[in-house]
Amino acid sequence: MATAGALLGQGAAVTLLERGEIGRESSWAGGGILSPLCPWDYPDEVNRLALRGMNMFGDLAGTLQQTTGIDPQYRRCGMLVLPPLDVQAASDWCATHGMQAEKCDDGLFLPEVAQARNPRLLQALRARVEKLGGRIVEQCEVRQIVAEAGRVRHLATTRGDFCADAFIVTAGAWSKVLLGEHALKADIKPIRGQMLLFKFDTPPLPHIVLQGDIYLIPRSDGHLLLGSTREDVGFDKSTTDEVREMLLQRGIALLPALRDMPVVKHWAGLRPASPGNIPTIGRHPQLPNLYINSGHFRYGVTMSPAAVEVLLNTINGTPQPFDVTPYLWR
Ligand SMILES: Cc1cc2nc3c(=O)[nH]c(=O)nc-3n(C[C@H](O)[C@H](O)[C@H](O)COP(=O)(O)OP(=O)(O)OC[C@H]3O[C@@H](n4cnc5c(N)ncnc54)[C@H](O)[C@@H]3O)c2cc1C
Repeated sequence: MATAGALLGQGAAVTLLERGEIGRESSWAGGGILSPLCPWDYPDEVNRLALRGMNMFGDLAGTLQQTTGIDPQYRRCGMLVLPPLDVQAASDWCATHGMQAEKCDDGLFLPEVAQARNPRLLQALRARVEKLGGRIVEQCEVRQIVAEAGRVRHLATTRGDFCADAFIVTAGAWSKVLLGEHALKADIKPIRGQMLLFKFDTPPLPHIVLQGDIYLIPRSDGHLLLGSTREDVGFDKSTTDEVREMLLQRGIALLPALRDMPVVKHWAGLRPASPGNIPTIGRHPQLPNLYINSGHFRYGVTMSPAAVEVLLNTINGTPQPFDVTPYLWR
């Protein structure tokens, strides 16, 4: 939807084909932290896109709210990173990468880290697509990309064939399956993440708290998210009692008030995982009217404005903000 919105904004006619209901998969399931969890642990290829996306997000959220009336609840709440952590090395990394960081007794505080509320962000993105005249076709599964004479001719779907001048694959964890023989080295697979949701009367924390893979994300209305896991279980979106218990124990250790709180909801989503967390963004090397913007793994929401920018520059033949070689479709 982010890709579609930007294309519509520059005057293209866009149709979005969605197997189920749009915006209900990984993008709905995620936490909406707008930063890599520990950026110093990632290569430049990840941070380049993520930090640019992070910096663009405030404007995107503002535009979405103004044009659709739906507030994605973008908020610069900050994130406290707790040990185990090499505080000095992390704060040195922040200093050299222009990211604010404050050393404190219990870890490192990153005041610029923001959050968005995924379901609302998705509602706003959908409303923007519709307002700009985009067509959304739901319950429409793309079954096959039909190529002929070196170009994609049409998409065969459960609701008939769809023709266009160009086609963009943004099918998240399912992108490789959808592409079939055309996937080449786009190596994207599902990695499950489970989340728990609680509701307090008022926010129990002023900022996001992170320890290892476990985080607490306070929403402004008192909801609190506790996540997550990285499970290599194929296309299985079920939740498990073991993970629920593990998350509860880890959450209570971070925030004892959770002990008395009921779990409001427990869900799982499938991240579109790529080697090194490096997405594939660009044109197919043999089919010039086929593009991809997928495989953003743990940071697809954070990266989205920058990933869209890179894709549109590729389509338009305009200069890129940085070296995009690592994301090319090979
Ligand atoms: C638990 C969890 C926590 C996360 N936390 C964060 C976070 O804090 N910050 C962050 O930046 N990222 C986070 N992420 C990652 C982020 O959610 C993803 O990287 C991002 O949402 C991927 O977006 P996408 O549009 O590529 O995929 P999706 O949102 O999964 O969308 C893909 C869509 O394609 C559709 N589709 C698939 N196959 C077909 C087909 N054949 N035909 C038609 N439609 C099809 C699907 O139904 C789906 O709607 C998290 C993810 C999870 C699961």
